[in-house]
Order: sequence, then structure tokens, then C-alpha cells
Amino acid sequence: MYEKKDKKPVESKPKLTTLAELGEFGLIDRLTRNVRHHHPETIKGIGDDAAVIDMGDKVMLLSTDLLVEGIHFDLTYMPFKHLGYKAAVVNISDIAAMNGIPRHMTVSMAVSSKFSAEALDELYAGIIMACEKYKVDLVGGDTCSNVKGLAISVTITGEAKKDEVVYRSGARSGDLLCVTGDLGSAYIGLLVLEREKSVFQVDPNMQPELSGYDYQIGRQLRPEARTDIRNLLLGTGVKPTSMIDVSDGLASEILHICKQSGVGCKLFEGKIPIEEYTRELAKEFKIIPSVAALSGGEDYELLFTVKQEDYEKIKDITGITIIGHMTSSTEGKTMVTPDGKFIPITAQGWDGMKDTKGNVAL
Ligand code: ADP
Ligand code: MG
Repeated sequence: MYEKKDKKPVESKPKLTTLAELGEFGLIDRLTRNVRHHHPETIKGIGDDAAVIDMGDKVMLLSTDLLVEGIHFDLTYMPFKHLGYKAAVVNISDIAAMNGIPRHMTVSMAVSSKFSAEALDELYAGIIMACEKYKVDLVGGDTCSNVKGLAISVTITGEAKKDEVVYRSGARSGDLLCVTGDLGSAYIGLLVLEREKSVFQVDPNMQPELSGYDYQIGRQLRPEARTDIRNLLLGTGVKPTSMIDVSDGLASEILHICKQSGVGCKLFEGKIPIEEYTRELAKEFKIIPSVAALSGGEDYELLFTVKQEDYEKIKDITGITIIGHMTSSTEGKTMVTPDGKFIPITAQGWDGMKDTKGNVAL
């Protein structure tokens, strides 16, 4: 007689954690939780814009950044030369964020056969142009093939005296929160490029209309690193208590400083420096201008804090804006709107896992 066999129990698969659940910073925390240092000269490892290695009377700063086609750049509108320049600059910016001087760089790339040598010549022309401008020596790298697309990884060293280094963790309650230059234009530049790209794709005979947006597009395609701020501040005798570069958006960077320093902050929305035409364009794109600054990213300005007693020294410097102050952590991280509303600051910023259209890429 046919005997009904017991149903095989369905094996319960362990639930795997998706990367989207963790987010970029959750993933880094998870992967690096068992990392320990073996060398006493490692002053600072993971968690700042660059690692800090003791070299005796000086320190070596060390940082790396990876740019991937389709995630960080779109070759439809990103010329190779600009891409090379930007790949170098975003690394130089991390050295500037530590209050250091950039020194040496290696460049590695994975490249598919769809690219010509001439295209890569242009990429290198851009990298070398940045190395000339910022006085960085390109000293090595690695080259390999790729199934699809282009990925460029740049590693950079910098130097500083030990007591010159500025960490993300030094902000104290009462410190003034300052930012260099203006914010949000790089993001608006990206929106302009995306808009013109879609026009171009609908009708390939149409030429993208990019004139008039030079500043915004320049900020997106050809950013500069604020290595000048180190000397500017040295000249005024002000040493920031904490510093970070604005790669992911003002909100995200403020939260990094708050977290690493164990403080809260009060940011005044009306004080955020935004270029006038960027403000207009933001409205055209139906974006609140401050949101472009808070969440846009890629401006590569420096966000830093100074002691309240340095107010007189800092307040009149052209190109530096005081946008708020740090508070105790119990007071939270708040943005005060011009009409007096209090809004909690959350990081909706690009967390590096979004593609060039802002979609989460994982
Ligand atoms: P930044 O925006 O300044 O380039 P990130 O946000 O990319 O810095 O990284 C934050 C910190 O985490 C840095 O100290 C960086 O070195 C470290 N980090 C990022 N990815 C990894 C990884 N895969 N393994 C170890 N450390 C990492
Ligand atoms: Mg950084």
C-alpha cells in the first residue's frame, strides 16, 4: 500500500541582510567591527576623512575614494578629462578636510574594452592637471580589465604636523559651525545635466542646452578642493575644532561631526550660503534651495567648527559663513527655519549608494 511519506520539512533559510537595509555607514560599521590595530603609530583609523599615521614629528594622512560608472558618473555628459580631474580632487579634498597638505597619489582602474586609449589619455590628462594644480605626485596604481564600464580608485597621502590635524570628533557645545564657499550648486548642475540628457535621448539631433549654467555644471563636473583654507585659517590664527568635507550633503556631514564629537547642533537655514542663480534654478526644479544644499552633496566645500572666542577672527572672512553652533547632545540636531520652526536634521543625502539619478543602487 502506498504510504504517504511525511512531508520533508522545509529548510528554513537564514534571513540575509540586504545592503539597502544597512545603508553605507551601517555596512562600513558592520564590516569593520572586528578591525584592530597592530601598530602604535596608527593614531586614527576608520571614521574620519583620512587615516592618521604617526611619522615622528609629522603625521601621514591616508585616504581612498572609488568612482564607479553609473553610480558616481555618467559618461553621457562627463568628459573624460573632467572625470580624471574630479577623481583626483575628491581625494585631495579629504586631505584638506584633515587640515593637511596633499602629497602622493596612486590611481587604479578597471576598464572595459569599450574604451579607447584616446579616451583614457583624456582621463589621465585630467588626473595630471589636478596633480599639477595641487602639487601631488602620482606615484603608482593598477590597471585591469572590467566586464563592463569604468571604475577608478584613487588613494592619496597627505602630511601635517601632529597638532595641526583636525578631526571630525573635536567639536564642543558652543562652538560655531562654519562652511566655506556655497552649497547646492553641484546638485543643481547634476539636475541640469540630467534634464538635458533626457532631451538628447528623446531626439538625438537635439544638442543639449548647457550655456548659462556654467557655474552649476562646473561645480558638478569639475569641483575644486579647498586646500586654500588651511593657509587662510593659519593666517588668522584660528584652528578649527572639527572639520569634514561636504561630499554627501550638508545634513549628512553635520550629523557625522555631531556623532563623532558627541554633540548636538543648531543650524540656521537662512544662513546656508547658496549662490543666487542656484537658488532660482532650484525653484525651477521644484526643490527648496536649502534642500539642494542639505541633501545634494558633491560641493567639496569644508564644514568646520571653531571656538566661540574665535568669532571676531572669523566673522569677516570672505568665503566663510557661520551657519549655526554646536549644542549639547541632549538638545538634538536641529535646523531653525527663517520663520522660527525647528526641524530635526536627518541625512537624506547621497550616501554613495545612489546612482547618478539618485536611485538607491543596491
Ligand atoms: P569620505 O566621504 O570622507 O570619503 P566615507 O564616508 O567614504 O568617507 O567613509 C567613512 C569612513 O569609513 C572613512 O574613514 C573610510 O576610510 C572608512 N571606510 C569606508 N569604506 C570602508 C571599507 N570598505 N573598509 C574599511 N573602511 C572603510
Ligand atoms: Mg570626506
